[in-house]
Amino acid sequence: MDCLFCKIIAGEIPSEKLYEDELVYVFKDINPEAPVHFLVIPKEHINSTDELDEAHKELVGHVFLVAKKVAHDEGLTNGYRIVNNCKEDGGQTVNHLHFHVLGGRSMQWPPG
Ligand code: 5GP
Ligand code: ZN
Repeated sequence: MDCLFCKIIAGEIPSEKLYEDELVYVFKDINPEAPVHFLVIPKEHINSTDELDEAHKELVGHVFLVAKKVAHDEGLTNGYRIVNNCKEDGGQTVNHLHFHVLGGRSMQWPPG
């Protein structure tokens, strides 16, 4: 499959890995929007949140626990933001499900 993030998981494209286990891969975003900005992605290729189903319940729960763990490892003791952009209107640019974790500064609301 011609997917950028599948290639990152496979090590075919280099990345700054922060964590990995049998279900997820975590790496720094190449274009950080905050002092800390990393992505949590399932190793299974899923296009977007819109393709999630009952079979992915445990995986998504695991994604959030890993996001919290790595956020703490990266020193985000004062909070952080988890973002998922879904499909065109959500602003998704890479079609492999991913969750942004941003922190190290105060975030604005609402998003653009
Ligand atoms: P989206 O816009 O789909 O929610 O987020 C995609 C994210 O992937 C963007 O924040 C972008 O900077 C990041 N990204 C795109 N290509 C690469 C890459 O080759 N390596 C890394 N580490 N991040 C990437
Ligand atoms: Zn993929």
